[in-house]
Amino acid sequence: MSNELIPELHDCLKLTTLQHNFSDFDRFLNYAPNTRTWKGVIQHHCKIPKQGEEAFPAWPTDRETFLLHIADGFASGFSRHAQSYKGEKSFTVHKLWNPRQITEDLRLKKDEDIIQLLRIYAKGPSFEDFKKKYERILTSRAEDAHPGMNITSLLTHMVLTGKIYRVFKSSKILQVNDSEIGNSVEAVFKLTDKKSREWKMHLARFKFYFNQNPFRVRDLSIFDLLNETISEIKRKFSDNVIFASTDEILMFYDEHDKVMNEIRSIVGKNCLFSFVEFGQRPVEEIKKPEPASLSGCQSETIYPLLQESISPPICEICQMSSATKIWPDDYNTQFGLIRDGIEGTEHLCDDCFQIRSRPSKLRKLSKWPEENTEYG
Ligand SMILES: [Zn+2]
Repeated sequence: MSNELIPELHDCLKLTTLQHNFSDFDRFLNYAPNTRTWKGVIQHHCKIPKQGEEAFPAWPTDRETFLLHIADGFASGFSRHAQSYKGEKSFTVHKLWNPRQITEDLRLKKDEDIIQLLRIYAKGPSFEDFKKKYERILTSRAEDAHPGMNITSLLTHMVLTGKIYRVFKSSKILQVNDSEIGNSVEAVFKLTDKKSREWKMHLARFKFYFNQNPFRVRDLSIFDLLNETISEIKRKFSDNVIFASTDEILMFYDEHDKVMNEIRSIVGKNCLFSFVEFGQRPVEEIKKPEPASLSGCQSETIYPLLQESISPPICEICQMSSATKIWPDDYNTQFGLIRDGIEGTEHLCDDCFQIRSRPSKLRKLSKWPEENTEYG
């Protein structure tokens, strides 16, 4: 059995209709797993109870559960948007882009289903295995059931908490050790406050652009390069990338130079340039997925390295390098083809030539002249 703390699995009781504060958990005590992940489930909250409010039975007692507690709080704040709320709780996600709300509350209600869930936890499942089993509940259950807050799924919250936890845990700059963790909820609360002020993190948004001005269908392979660029950054910084679209990424990290150097090298290799907005602030001040909201936010453009001198002819696509190839002659020569028909000649640099030489995804394009009845 793996006894590793899986941070994604910290919100076990949100899959059920039980209270999140364990106040009605007594009848399941015999099934409570004895794993580090379960320790995280019980200890990831740290809240000084208000009068009349049910206190959680435990608080972080070691480095792992403390980091989970900070990561959970950060992830929740980051994906919650409403400033105030009124009305009934809704345990299903409200889809902003599709107003038809998911109305079926799929949370586990029967004791036997909850016991099965606890038995699965006791076996120490990986997040991937757990997700396969409970995906329907995880995607339909709102992380926060308050009206206006119920737009983030529990699954999104789990993934985000896992990433943030590992970013904190693997950091060489952010330090906390077991001996600093106090033995009361108040002591841990103070430590959370202290570390959230001391630990400074970067939030950065990278947007990617082409150097090329494509003018033939084959030049559209630059979209593949863009896709490959984002995939490569996601692979290298799997936990730091907290959002990615087709042309931009949002990153959360501690060491700015390390990230910038790596991205500079990937972007340069793939013939792109990037505009980045970034800010470094204490963890407690980073509340929105928007670097521009941080005081002292800066921006920079990551350009590819230019040669010291560029002698003509200049590449007709990017206009940033000397042209070393002639299209289509050099392309045809590779395959022993002889140029036929009237086709313009273009001077291209090595990079733009390589991009245009990528196999075309439009496989039927070369057959258009023969099959013009089909394609009109
Ligand atoms: Zn070029």
